[in-house]
Amino acid sequence: MTESSGLIDPFGRKVEYIRLSVTDRCDLRCNYCMPKGFKGFEQPPNWLDFDEIERVLSAFARLGLARVRLTGGEPLLRKDLPKLAARIKSIPGIDDLSLSTNATQLSKHAVDLKQAGVDRINVSLDSLDHQRFAEITGRDSLQKVLDGLEQAHRIGFAPVKINMVMTPQTSEQELDDMVAYCMDNQFVLRLIEIMPMGDTGRNAGFVDLQPIKQRLQQRFDLIDGVVPGAGPARYLKSKDGSFSIGFITPLSQHFCATCNRVRLAVDGTLYLCLGNEHKFEFRPLLRQGISDDELLEAVQHAITLKPERHEFRESPQRIVRFMSHTGG
Ligand code: SAM
Ligand code: SF4
Repeated sequence: MTESSGLIDPFGRKVEYIRLSVTDRCDLRCNYCMPKGFKGFEQPPNWLDFDEIERVLSAFARLGLARVRLTGGEPLLRKDLPKLAARIKSIPGIDDLSLSTNATQLSKHAVDLKQAGVDRINVSLDSLDHQRFAEITGRDSLQKVLDGLEQAHRIGFAPVKINMVMTPQTSEQELDDMVAYCMDNQFVLRLIEIMPMGDTGRNAGFVDLQPIKQRLQQRFDLIDGVVPGAGPARYLKSKDGSFSIGFITPLSQHFCATCNRVRLAVDGTLYLCLGNEHKFEFRPLLRQGISDDELLEAVQHAITLKPERHEFRESPQRIVRFMSHTGG
């Protein structure tokens, strides 16, 4: 195996993107994500420490990794996250570092994250209505989220993307309010279909985004558009180009053929696909003193385990781990 052979999986896809879960804990309990009252979190001794994370990502980067997204759980709960961000950004080859957050603590950390080299931020926000926000997440932290978004915008994160999960309870008014808010603030909006991950994902109910896309296209006079980023979203934009809305449709129109990503959980497990159990454990190897060359070989082997596609539609019961456990 050589470094130049890169991270090509058995289906010819180049893996150049890792979503790194820095914690499986969260201060919210979005009802489609984490089970109510869940307490089975990974214990701190099992978390990869910053040296271990840097080592694994450096091995990936030598083989072609170019993008990293910090996620979780809620990544801002991990102590010293900006320090980790700076270490990741300085790994040769990694040219794009982004963050997914619920933004409840973003106003506190946004400046440090920007200075550490975080390029882009995605914020989860499913409703602008206080009561609905509390129903979905378990507590009304909406104002903190809005403050965090304002701060991110003010200090120059661009684009800021808002991820809105569509549930059967999401009303047309709620969605139209979110579109108007994003238009006013120059945020990119992305609508997401719920995936049947764990009982939480399965019980939340599936909403097909295709009819919603058609309605919004007419209602806001939108045309086809493209937004830079490694993601699978399909976009519409306003005619003057000032507003974009993406549709992430893992179920109604899956995008596995172009999947370029894997997920590294807080305990060092690499998950090769959201909708399959294929995985590879890095923590035992790291703690047994694996050499750098052996680590490169382990990374290349792990990528050969990536399955062709998820089977959320055919086997929705298959995935028992929920999203915050895997790293969304
Ligand atoms: N806590 C951060 C946040 O909420 O952005 C990062 C982790 S969260 C697991 C990442 C993304 O996964 C969020 O946008 C969330 O809405 C999404 N998500 C969680 N469970 C999901 C599910 N079952 N189907 C689709 N998206 C889900
Ligand atoms: Fe927490 Fe994000 Fe899951 Fe909501 S979606 S419970 S904010 S990890």
